[in-house]
Parts: sequence; C-alpha cells; structure tokens
Amino acid sequence: MFHKVLIANRGEIALRIQRACRELGIPTVAVHSTADAEAMHVRLADESVCIGPPPARESYLNVPAILSAAAITGADAIHPGYGFLSENAAFAEMVEAHGLTFIGPSADHIRMMGDKIAAKTAMASLGVPLVPGSDGEVKDLDEAIAVAARIGYPVLVKAAAGGGGRGMKVASSADGLEEAWRVARTEARTAFGNDAVYIEKYLDKPRHIELQIMADSHGNVVHFGERDCSLQRRHQKLLEEAGSPALTPAQRDAIGATSTAGLAKLGYRNAGTLEFLYQDGQFAFIEMNTRLQVEHPVTELLCGIDLVREQIRIAAGQPLGYTQADIKFSGHAIECRINAEDPETFMPTPGRVTHFHAPGGLGVRVDSALYAGYMVPPFYDSMVAKLIVHAPDRAQAIARMRRALAEFAVVGIKTTLPLHQRIMEDPEFQSGDYTIHWLERFVARG
Ligand code: ADP
Repeated sequence: MFHKVLIANRGEIALRIQRACRELGIPTVAVHSTADAEAMHVRLADESVCIGPPPARESYLNVPAILSAAAITGADAIHPGYGFLSENAAFAEMVEAHGLTFIGPSADHIRMMGDKIAAKTAMASLGVPLVPGSDGEVKDLDEAIAVAARIGYPVLVKAAAGGGGRGMKVASSADGLEEAWRVARTEARTAFGNDAVYIEKYLDKPRHIELQIMADSHGNVVHFGERDCSLQRRHQKLLEEAGSPALTPAQRDAIGATSTAGLAKLGYRNAGTLEFLYQDGQFAFIEMNTRLQVEHPVTELLCGIDLVREQIRIAAGQPLGYTQADIKFSGHAIECRINAEDPETFMPTPGRVTHFHAPGGLGVRVDSALYAGYMVPPFYDSMVAKLIVHAPDRAQAIARMRRALAEFAVVGIKTTLPLHQRIMEDPEFQSGDYTIHWLERFVARG
C-alpha cells in the first residue's frame, strides 16, 4: 500500500479523497493555490504545499509544481480527483515517469477515451451500441451534409476533444448545418486546440444514463449499476439519481454485462464511467470518463461501497476481492449539486459565506469544503457542496431530500438550493418521467 498520497485537486473532492486515505491509514499531501491557503482541504491534510497563484493554469494545472510537491514531501502516489489533470494522459505518464503511481487508468486508455471518436470506434468494436452518426471524423462540409442526409435531421456536430458540454451544436435542418459545423469547429479549436468534429443523430427525448465500472489489474471488471443524470442545464448535470427511474434490473444487468466484458477485453484498469443516451428502450454510448465522477456518491450509497478506497487499492495492485454477484443494489439515492450561482440566472456568486449549517440525520450525506467565514473564490468551478440522500425507495428519497434541503443553510452567497427545492416539489420530477430536456424547460417556466 502507498506511504503517502498527494491529492492534485481542491474543494470537496480533495476532502473526499483525504477521507478515504485516512481510513486506509495513508497520510495525505494537499496542494493549493495562494487563493486557497485557508481552504478546508488544506486545513485537514497532513501536509500542504502551495503550488502557485490563483489561476488554475498556474497552480492546479501546473505539472512541474505538483511533481515537485510530491518529491519534497515523499509522496508515492497521486490522486487527480475530477477535472483539472484527471484526464490528462501526459500528466499520468509524467507521474509514472517520476516513479510515482497515478491513481487512475493507464495513460493509453485516458488518451483513447479523451478522443471521443477513438472512444466510439473502440466501443463499437467491443459490441457496445452507439448513437447513429458519422463513421469517425467528418473532414469537410460536404461530408457533413452527406452524413446528415443519411441519418436524418436533427443532427449534433460534436468536438472529438469535447468536454463540459462545449463544442456541441445542433442543426435541425440542412439550412442550419453550415453554421453548426462552423461554430462547433471554432469552439473546439479555441477551447481544446483541436477542431476535429464528428456528427451524431440528435436524440429528441433521451435520458442520460451512465454506468459505473471498476477494474483491477488482474483482469477482474465489475459494474456498480447506473446513475441517471438527465437533469442538466447546458449539457451540465445538476442532479443525479441511482438507480434510474426508467430502468429495470434486467436492463441494468444486460448493459452491465456488455460493458464489463468489453472493458475486460480492452484491459482497462481502475474506475471508469460509460455514458449512454437511453431512448425507446435502447442504450447508445456517447463517451467514457476515465476518472472518478462528481456524482459517484449516489452509487456509493446504493451499493454500500467506497469507490475512492477501491481506486486506491487497485492502484496499489490489490485485486477487487469480490465478483459481480456480490454487488447488491439497495434502495434509492439522489444527489443535488449546490453551486455558488444565482438560482435564476446561473451567474456565479463568489463571496463570503457568513453562516453555514449542513443537514444531517438518517441517510443524509454532505460532501462540501464550505465553512462559516469561508470566502468562495471566483477562480474555480462554482460547485460548493453536494447533498446526497439514501432511502428505501425513490418516494422516500425525495421526502428525505426535501427535508434535508430545508435544513441546509448557506448564508452570504446565492446558491442553487432554492432551485433544488422547487424541483423536489414538482409532480413531473416526482413521477420520474423526464428527459435531458426537462430541466431547461422547468427553469424557463420559472
Ligand atoms: P461532454 O463531454 O461535453 O459532457 P457528452 O458527449 O458527454 O459531452 O454529452 C453531454 C450531454 O449532451 C449529454 O448528457 C446529453 O444531454 C447531450 N447530448 C450529447 N450527445 C447527444 C445526442 N446525440 N443527442 C442528444 N443529446 C446529446
């Protein structure tokens, strides 16, 4: 097992990883920018190293500073969390080249899945169903027109290097295709430095359902069931549930078996998430995330497993130690992302949190690095807390979430708490019958 783990992240996820390390008896090193000197992840770590000024590219993305921090503190492994360097294959390679362990998949698999075209090609060859679309990259507008005519409008032009919902444009007819094509490519070039795009059929009423998998370095692959992440704004998730209200256990088993068999063939290692769109009873793969996801706690509550502990154990070479049949799914879990944002305009609201009170009680979990007096800096992601509940069934989980939201006090800044309260009261949400378009319409309704 590792002697010391450096956590190359901040906020709630840095705390989350610290907690797993502490329970495994592993000391941790926090890294931080000058803006985060007072942050909770720094206060609770065994050691901390300042790695640069506030902008992420000079601190949390500063690879030489992070590797130096690992060297001077004697850390022998690095956990990247999510975001920042977590899906940077070159970083994973450099960590290993310095004799440290990267707690995650191999650099080759990170690279493969980071290119969505390569990911789709790999998954298709492993028998995983795809969204209909172009056969790889679409190189020019004429080809785009031909592909769209073949699969039928509306279509989505997507960046091969895309992420965070960027570099994605819908064309509802041939008239709009040229503009969608141009805008998606420009966005992709500016945001990702790579203007390769591909085309998918734009599904009109899908759910976003993703599968959590875990693989060790001894050829064992299991899945921990699905998460329904259909509640999105601008293709960004705001609320997640496990299991999906739309899926039966038999459907879960079927997609789970196809996916784990495919990843075993690929020789994949550590945690990963296969993202699918699900419509009319069909799954269609869109992308794979080669890291821990923000929404992993709903799976942890559903399965009673510590996914970060599993990541660390696997990276240290230990076998899973259980089979698919040992994994049980119990009850229902819901996560609300609490962002420092205006709940109506979604403008970020950095500033001082004057009072903070987290809910508690049976089946309630709060993952947050907030505290009373904390100054939410303007430099990073606006998510400041995750409220997760677990209950015997979905109706009771909603009731529990309503009462936990009512207990939650974050004073001094605006947050998305009131929006989540409104969602919980809504009969359509309560019915479980929603698609990826539901939340935008709900917000527009006011
Ligand atoms: P990113 O990596 O930027 O998050 P994804 O490919 O994961 O991009 O897609 C993000 C979201 O965009 C999906 O969850 C879904 O809501 C929407 N989306 C992606 N592909 C399609 C599609 N073919 N049809 C309809 N919606 C889509």
